[in-house]
Amino acid sequence: MTTFNLRTLKLRSGEQFRDEQEIELEPLELGGQRYLPVPETVPGELAITRASTGTVFELSFHVRLHGPCFRCLEDAVLDLPISAREYHANVPEDDELRTPYVEDDKLDLSAWARDALALELPDKILCRADCAGLCPVCGKNLNDEPHDHGEPEPDSRWAALAELKDRL
Ligand SMILES: [Zn+2]
Ligand SMILES: [Zn+2]
Repeated sequence: MTTFNLRTLKLRSGEQFRDEQEIELEPLELGGQRYLPVPETVPGELAITRASTGTVFELSFHVRLHGPCFRCLEDAVLDLPISAREYHANVPEDDELRTPYVEDDKLDLSAWARDALALELPDKILCRADCAGLCPVCGKNLNDEPHDHGEPEPDSRWAALAELKDRL
């Protein structure tokens, strides 16, 4: 877990601190599947700006996620640029103006990065945009073996009945 110590940071109003931070990323659970950031540690650009009423935190980094495709379960790779912004008021009156990632003068970069990443994820993680998925009948991968099983044979008795119905 990566945290940034804010205690040593002495910023006056209007001043900004900017630095590259190595951020440890956690694996992500999504739809019962596990997605791993590769590599697990990425360089992030952290900017902290002191305003008169609070502090603005900005973070940006790139992440590459590996995990199963939603449709065919083969390995899918996702590259995402992430940028996030948080505000932390000096006066702890309004919880909405306090970022949850600051506690005891520490900024929890890993937790913030995890949540920011979760917000940027697409609805479906696919191995490719036109992934054909698995055959609903036999379960084979339709990307490797495109096929269909045709219409099921209609029962002849029902066919006769349908014919009778058409004539009525
Ligand atoms: Zn797929
Ligand atoms: Zn099939």
